[in-house]
Amino acid sequence: MKSEIAKKISNLKKELNSAKLIAVTKYSSTDEIETAYQAHQFDFGENRVQDLIEKAQVLEQKGFHKVKWHFIGHLQSNKVKELLRCPHLWALHSVDSTRLLEELLKREEEFVGSELKLFFQLNTSHEAEKSGFQSAEELEFAISTLLAHPTSKLKLYGLMTMGPIRTEEFELEAQRCFKDLKAVGLRLEEKFKLKNHLMLSMGMSNDYKIALSEGADFIRLGSAIFK
Ligand SMILES: *Cc1c(COP(=O)(O)O)cnc(C)c1O
Repeated sequence: MKSEIAKKISNLKKELNSAKLIAVTKYSSTDEIETAYQAHQFDFGENRVQDLIEKAQVLEQKGFHKVKWHFIGHLQSNKVKELLRCPHLWALHSVDSTRLLEELLKREEEFVGSELKLFFQLNTSHEAEKSGFQSAEELEFAISTLLAHPTSKLKLYGLMTMGPIRTEEFELEAQRCFKDLKAVGLRLEEKFKLKNHLMLSMGMSNDYKIALSEGADFIRLGSAIFK
């Protein structure tokens, strides 16, 4: 079991090349996370605040200081404060509304680190159960809101999307979602004259190969590692 997790991580890293692997631990125990850490996997993702805090505290107590936590789930405004206090929180992939962004800006002093990287989530598949900005225009407005706070600890870092769940033409549709995200990223870089490339967080266990070929920078994998 242990060596299997290590082997999967090592193979995936080779396959991912320069894209960064985020090991999604929402169905994993802290023992499994430890195994992954010992295999030099340091980026981990969680989609619930409570689970994240519990796991982050355990790892913190064990002295696993290289961990970088990525929050990847829908974040409710009333959980912002708790999330910002999480040890080793590195990035938030799921900024999905201007209202949430404003709440984050209001509470940023709670953040324990010096910089928190933000990914803005775009609903490229337009499936109703998915969170995310519904259009590039709404997204633009949110980004201009963040850029109006240049000294904030919250930094514009990238865009995130999820591939489709219900579709007959899974591969084509996933490809379209990832191409859309990339195109929106390029337009935003131009429009706001951004100096840094907007990182693309896209691809899960069932569609990461497609995301990779569309230029993903961060891939979020759970079952491909831990099942
Ligand atoms: C669960 C989850 C993942 C990982 O899903 P797998 O199919 O297990 O790889 C990636 N991103 C988000 C936002 C998730 O909630």
